[in-house]
Amino acid sequence: MSLSLSYIPGAAVAPTPARTGTARLLLDARRAYRGGPAAVAARQRARLAAQIAYARARSPYYRELYRGLPPQVDDVVLLPVTSKAQLMDRFDDWVTDPRATRDDVEAFVADPTRIGDQFLGDYTVATTSGTTGTRGIFLLDQLPLAVATAMMGRMLAGLVRPVDLVRIAAGGGRIALVTATGGHFASAAAAARLRSSPRRAQRVQAFSVQTPLPELVAQLNAFRPAVLAPYAGTAALLAGEQEAGRLDIHPTLAVLAAEGLPDREYQRIAAAFGAKVGHSYAATECPFLSYSCKEGWLHVNADWAILEPVDADHQPTPPGRRSHTVLLTNLANRVQPILRYDLGDSVLARPDPCPCGNPLPAIRVQGRTADLLSFPSPHGPVTVTPLTLSALLDRIPGIEVFQIIHAGPTTLRLRLLVRTGIDPDQAWQAARGALADLLANSGLDHVEIERADEPPRPSAGGKYRLVQPLALH
Ligand SMILES: [Zn+2]
Repeated sequence: MSLSLSYIPGAAVAPTPARTGTARLLLDARRAYRGGPAAVAARQRARLAAQIAYARARSPYYRELYRGLPPQVDDVVLLPVTSKAQLMDRFDDWVTDPRATRDDVEAFVADPTRIGDQFLGDYTVATTSGTTGTRGIFLLDQLPLAVATAMMGRMLAGLVRPVDLVRIAAGGGRIALVTATGGHFASAAAAARLRSSPRRAQRVQAFSVQTPLPELVAQLNAFRPAVLAPYAGTAALLAGEQEAGRLDIHPTLAVLAAEGLPDREYQRIAAAFGAKVGHSYAATECPFLSYSCKEGWLHVNADWAILEPVDADHQPTPPGRRSHTVLLTNLANRVQPILRYDLGDSVLARPDPCPCGNPLPAIRVQGRTADLLSFPSPHGPVTVTPLTLSALLDRIPGIEVFQIIHAGPTTLRLRLLVRTGIDPDQAWQAARGALADLLANSGLDHVEIERADEPPRPSAGGKYRLVQPLALH
C-alpha cells in the first residue's frame, strides 16, 4: 500500500487547522485499521520522521540531543532515551514555541480561574502529580486532542453497536465525567473544553471525584447519564452503590480511565450498570495511547504512538515477557515533543494476534515499576510487586476498595471499604490473614499489618492508588 505524505494528517512539518479535522482523522484511523499492520507501520514511520524533523527544527533541546544523528531519521531505536526529569529541567528549551516559558505556564497553572482556558490561546495545559516524584506540566496543541477524539471513535466502533448509539441518543446523550476537578488535571481541562459551547454544556457534566460518595450518588441520580466516564477505582465504588440500590442510573456505556482493575471487576461493573465497559491506558504525555478490546487486552494506537517494552538497559523485551519499563513516542503533539520517553510502566506485549481481530499491538499493563515495595530482611531487601498484593486482596469477598500503604520500613497499613451488608471486622481479619501468609511465605513475617481507621482516599490527581510505596508519602 502506498501512501502520499501530504495525505497523512500530521505528516507535514507544520500542521494546519485543516489537517487536524476530526472527520479526516477518523477516516484515516479506519483505513489504518483495515489496512492492518503494514498500513499502521507506514503511518507510524512517516509521522515519526516528521516529528523528529520538527523537534530538531524548533526545539533547542532536541537539536542538541540529536546533534550526532543522521539528517533523516525514521527509526525510533536510533534516538536517545528521555525522561520527565530531564525534560522538565530544560522546559524552555524543550518546547517548540518560544513564547511558552516555564515561568508563565507555572503562573497559569497556579490560577484556578483559568482552568479550561487555553494557554497563550493555543494550548491545553495538563499537570501530573507524578508517581515518580517529578511534577510534569504538559502542553497539548490541537492535533493530539483531535487524534484523541478519532481514537475514541475507533474504539467505540469496536465496542458499541448501532442499537447502543440509539440508546445513548434516547438517553439525551448525557455524558457524566467523574474527574478531579479544581485543578489543571488533564481530565478537568478536557471536561472544560467539552463544555465550551452552551449546547454541549447541558449534555456533558463534570463531577468531582472528591465529592463525598452519598452526594456524588445523588448528583448522578439527578443527571441520569447515558455515558459514564469515571476513573476505574471510582467506577468500582459506584458499581457497589448501584448494587446496593442507592445509585440508580442506566448508562449504555462506561469508559473507565487510569488505574487498572482486576478482570472480574470490569465484569462486575458491566453487570451492575447493564452497560458495556471499555477502559483505557493512557498518560498525560499521550492521552490517546490505547483502548481495551472485548478480550481484555489494550490495543496501542500505533499509527499515532510508539510504545517500546524494554529492560532496565532500554533493550527490547520480547513479547510475552514483562518489561522493566516502556518508552513512549507521541506522534501527534508538536509543542512539546515526547520522543522515546521513559514512562516507568511495566507492560507485557501479546506475542500472537489478538482473537478480537484488532491488528494494533496488544498489551497488558503490569503496574508501575516505581510502585515495587521493598522491605528489609535479615537476608537482604525483599521486593513485592503491587499486583501480587492487589490480586491477593481481590480474592477476598466483600472488599469494595482497598489501599495498601507502605507506612514504614516494616509496616503495611490497610485501608478498606467493604460492600453493603458485609461485616468490616470479618473482611479485615480475612485480608490481614491473607497478607500475613503472603509475607511469611516471602520471609517477611516481621512486617506488621495495621488497620487504618480512615477509608481509601483518592490522590490529588483523583486516582485511587491501590498500593502506595514508602517513597511516595
Ligand atoms: Zn484485542
